[in-house]
Amino acid sequence: MLDKTLAELAQGLATGEFSSVELTQNYLDRINAEDGKLNSFITVTPEQALAQASAADQRRAAGNADAFTGLPIAHKDIFCTQGVRTSCGSKMLDNFVSPYNATIVEHFNQAGAVSLGKTNMDEFAMGSSNESSFYGPARNPWNTDCVPGGSSGGSAASIAGGLTPAATGSDTGGSIRQPAALCGITGLKPTYGRVSRYGMIAYASSLDQAGPMTRTAEDSAMMLNVMAGFDPKDSTSLDRPVPDYTLTLNDSLKGLKIGLPKEFFSDDIDPQITIQVQNAIREFEALGATVKQISLPNTHLAIPAYYIIAPAEASSNLSRFDGVRYGYRCEDPTDLEDMYKRSRGEGFGEEVKRRIMVGTYALSEGFYDAYYKKALQIRRLIQQDYVTALSEVDIIMGPTTPHPAFKLGEKTADPVTMYMEDIFTLSLNLAGMPGISVPCGFANGLPVGLQMIGNYFAEERLLNAAHQFQQATDWHTQTPGQ
Ligand code: GLN
Repeated sequence: MLDKTLAELAQGLATGEFSSVELTQNYLDRINAEDGKLNSFITVTPEQALAQASAADQRRAAGNADAFTGLPIAHKDIFCTQGVRTSCGSKMLDNFVSPYNATIVEHFNQAGAVSLGKTNMDEFAMGSSNESSFYGPARNPWNTDCVPGGSSGGSAASIAGGLTPAATGSDTGGSIRQPAALCGITGLKPTYGRVSRYGMIAYASSLDQAGPMTRTAEDSAMMLNVMAGFDPKDSTSLDRPVPDYTLTLNDSLKGLKIGLPKEFFSDDIDPQITIQVQNAIREFEALGATVKQISLPNTHLAIPAYYIIAPAEASSNLSRFDGVRYGYRCEDPTDLEDMYKRSRGEGFGEEVKRRIMVGTYALSEGFYDAYYKKALQIRRLIQQDYVTALSEVDIIMGPTTPHPAFKLGEKTADPVTMYMEDIFTLSLNLAGMPGISVPCGFANGLPVGLQMIGNYFAEERLLNAAHQFQQATDWHTQTPGQ
């Protein structure tokens, strides 16, 4: 039961093979038995989960169930959950119990989903390995000496380890796609504005986007059906109709035009990753797609631009954590300034402080034009690269990450080597377009992710292509320990 997809579990609930309470109890038992090794949850909520499951069973008995009713999921601990600790992976919010639900949490509750708990993450979503979490790193189920990726590392590890069938994630520069790739699962970053950001603790507001993390593309379509849509509480959410993403999964890929950017196939990539990605592309050709070389000439500027823009926005967003209204407050402050300084100094971890300092510097008088404004200009160039490329092809493909999962501690000493792991993911956040990572093979026994990128609101096409690939291959069905 624990290796099943959401779609299979929904079937089991519908036919009465098992109840939501039985299903939920199974996952809770599994979390109890296995999460000591993986550390993929920060908070498990068994009582709430069983209450939701029993309500879902009653709803089904009354004939009011819909597609998601009774299905267990987990939420990244960046999403506010009413009455449940919402830590964002930080000591700063270790004592914060949210008084309200994020819009997407509300959507899942209304659909009758069961929340098993809150998953581990890099502190304030800053990181690519889950090692900056105040609660210690989550571990990769394929090799527990390795990182699961980040920042949604707990969500990815819990799915790959069979502790939940699906989870929510957030992606500011790759945090859904990169851990999905490293843990051998499917992860979708939707178009900016497709999913509400209300109640998702802000890191870099112009880049942050919530999305699904699942075993399969079909499951991501089911999740996105619940998550997507306009939210009057989020001024950047877009008022566009939400299609049923499951209806187009079986469309034919005949004539699909795939673009391969030469910048995504450089020598710096693990050669085994390149081989797996090339094999995957051949699979698409067999499904009727055509392939063309393209160029995204400003790719090399994405990391420098992102690491100005994201910290700049973070330095502003994180100014609200000052020890006054909620969150961590230092012991016995001598005066107001001492309280601010020590609450922030003691409450934030090293990486978060680094970002706040870089961001504050980039926005300061005299440097604003040289750094922040320049980064915004580069952002526009990168966006134009994608717009141009996607006027010629339907989907851009390449590796999600340059390397498979790396060892814990391997990249913590030098932040820049860590930042480089997002080379293929973060340009997409600068452009605002959607991208999905699907498992496409193994390198040294560790999963490899294929990234597919589409134009604004091309989620249907991406999920369709990913689903067709998964119908033709079985990488997504492999589980650790097999
Ligand atoms: N690794 C990137 C960063 O640290 C992206 C993280 C994310 O997408 N939240 O900013």
